[in-house]
This record gives sequence, structure tokens and C-alpha cells, in this order.
Amino acid sequence: MSGVRTALVWDPAVTAYRFRPDHPFNPRRLELTVSLMEALGLLEAEHVGVVAPRRATDEELMRVHSAEYVAAVKRCSERGARPADGWPWGLGTDDTPLFPGMHDVTSLVVGATLRAAELVMSGEYTRAFNLAGGLHHAHRDRGSGFCVYSDLAAAIAWIREAHGARVMYIDYDAHHGDGVQGIFYDDPEVLTLSIHESGRYLFPGTGFVDELGEGEGFGYSLNVPLEPFTEDDSWIGIYARLLPEVAEAFRPDVIVLQNGCDGHGYDPLTHLRATTRLYEETVRITCEVADRLCGGRVVATGGGGYAIWKTVPRAWSLVWAALSGQTAPDVIPHAWNDRWQGESPDLLPERLRDPAGLFPPVPRRAEIEATNRRTVQSLHRQALPLLRGWGLGF
Ligand SMILES: [Zn+2]
Repeated sequence: MSGVRTALVWDPAVTAYRFRPDHPFNPRRLELTVSLMEALGLLEAEHVGVVAPRRATDEELMRVHSAEYVAAVKRCSERGARPADGWPWGLGTDDTPLFPGMHDVTSLVVGATLRAAELVMSGEYTRAFNLAGGLHHAHRDRGSGFCVYSDLAAAIAWIREAHGARVMYIDYDAHHGDGVQGIFYDDPEVLTLSIHESGRYLFPGTGFVDELGEGEGFGYSLNVPLEPFTEDDSWIGIYARLLPEVAEAFRPDVIVLQNGCDGHGYDPLTHLRATTRLYEETVRITCEVADRLCGGRVVATGGGGYAIWKTVPRAWSLVWAALSGQTAPDVIPHAWNDRWQGESPDLLPERLRDPAGLFPPVPRRAEIEATNRRTVQSLHRQALPLLRGWGLGF
């Protein structure tokens, strides 16, 4: 599509979303990514812009969170709050510990995704990307899995309220997008599609094919649980086939895309085997579908990603390049490696894209691919008739 304009919503202040120095959800990855985008020249074109976020208001948070939960998060953000104060709300845990200023900075992260949605829905930009967003495990009344508030759900709820638009939410983080699914589980105007490592092996332990939604929203929650050690070919093949089919049946007005990059084979917290090809291909396919069906509109966020030196900056630079229709050069400028190598425990990669054969062959590849195919067939049987309004008449 010609005339695409893409915004990066960014302010270094979002890096204050930080639990403790040794916590895997490390905001250094955001600085590393923006610095790599700059080094690659990806923030210079005339059709891209960098836009500052704003803080979400309490009203905006309470579109998707209860007043009691927001009040509890504020109390837990005070200096001197004890972990036990957060326990009834899923906070103060090992995964999602309390930190001073938690409410303020999470409101900024939510506001950044709201800003991205505003830029896209106003037509000022075609697509927008909030690297710091993607907090997909936050629930209405409960924090979980490094997530305090749901920037994704707040943006989707705003789009619904302000524009009455139909939203397709796509999540290919290695973990199931349980928070967003739960908040819109009975809503037929918000379709959620999550592709992730099976909950049999990975947090949060949900996201199976038979989680299809409830009430009016039955048929509008879709899940593809992948086998551990799934590689690019199987994953991209599923995405390339499923996404256009589902989008054509649902006819969204806008796509919200969560780009967690913890499905990469270097990630220390998961067991999937993607390479950087996944991020380029997924975003390319998504943008093609958006161009065809919904005026190109894509609101994108980051998400998980714990190989912060070797993977995240490359994966999200590729996401940004694909969103903004730019071809990223493959060689990483030396200046970027020189700037960061001293701090990195790993040898930083010299190429933006992983080479073929990066990982040793997976012995069970054929079995993994066959199981993934059966999972998609099962989803087809159960969900596509519902989406097309055919009912479950067989
Ligand atoms: Zn994740």
C-alpha cells in the first residue's frame, strides 16, 4: 500500500517499568532496540515519525480494570508497601514484585499504546508501534506474569468506545495472551487470536483450542498452542494460512498486534525455536492483510523477549522495518556493537538476520510439525464455522 505512515511511540521514561535489577523483564532491551533502529537508519525516512506518549488517566485504566484494582496498584506503588499488600491482586510475587512508582510508569506504558491507537484511528499515521507495551497477562482484577495493567485491553476498549470499530487482536508472543482474551471473552466485536507455546509446558498454562469465548463472544477467541521446539517453517506456515482466513471471516476495522519475541530459539524462558525470520514474515503477512481489509491500520506493541542482547533489538528492529515498509540493511553497524559490547555478557551478533542453520536440527521435527497441523485442523473444525455464522452443524 502506498502512502503508509508509521509512528514509533517512544520516550525513555518508559524504562522506569523495572521490577528489580536481576528481573528478566529488563527495560535495557528498549534502549538497545531504539539505539539499533537509529544505527540502521530506520528512523530517518520522511514517512516515519517518533511521537511521545502520554499517561493514561484513571478513567482509561478503568475501562478494563476494576476501581478496586487500580486503587490497590496505587497503594502498592508507595514507598514502604509490603509484598503481602499486593498478594490479593497478583502483585508482590516473585514474578511481578512491587516497585515504587509502579502505578505512574505503568500508566505511561498504557498511555503509549493508547497514543498509538489514537494516531492510527485518527488517520494521522497508518501504523504505530509502542515497544514498551504488550502487557498481555494483566487481568481485570489482577496483575500476572510481569504485567500490572493491560495497555492492550485499554487501547482496544478505547477503540471500541470512541470509534465502534471491530478489532482483531493477534498475539504471537511465546506465552498465551490470557489477559486480553479474558477481558474480551464475551465480546463478539473483539476477536483474539493467540499463537503460543502450549500451556502444557509453559506459563500461564492456558490457551487451548477449546477456549473459544463465551456468550455472544463464542467463536471469537482463537488459540493455536504450538509444540515445544516449533521452528520457523511450521510457525510461519500456520500464520500465513490462518491469518488471512480468519481476518476475511471477521472483517476487522483495525488490527492490534502483540510482537513478543520470546519464541526465538535464544530465549531463556521458553522452548520454541524461531529465528528472526518469524518477526519479518509475521509482520509482513499482517500488514498485507491489513492493507487489503482495514485500510492498513495496525497498532503494534512489544511484549516478552528475554534474550535482551542477542535477540530483542534485532527482532523489534525487523518488526519496525516491516511495519514502516523499509528494507533494513543486514549488516549491523560497528558503532552499535562498539557501544554495547562492553556491557553484554554475550557476543553481540553482527548481522540483523539469523543465518539458516542457526540451531542444530530438531530430532522430532516431523512429529512436531504433524502435531501443529492437527492443532490447526481442530481449530478450523471448531472455530471457522462459528466465525462464518454457520453454527456448529456437524
Ligand atoms: Zn511471553
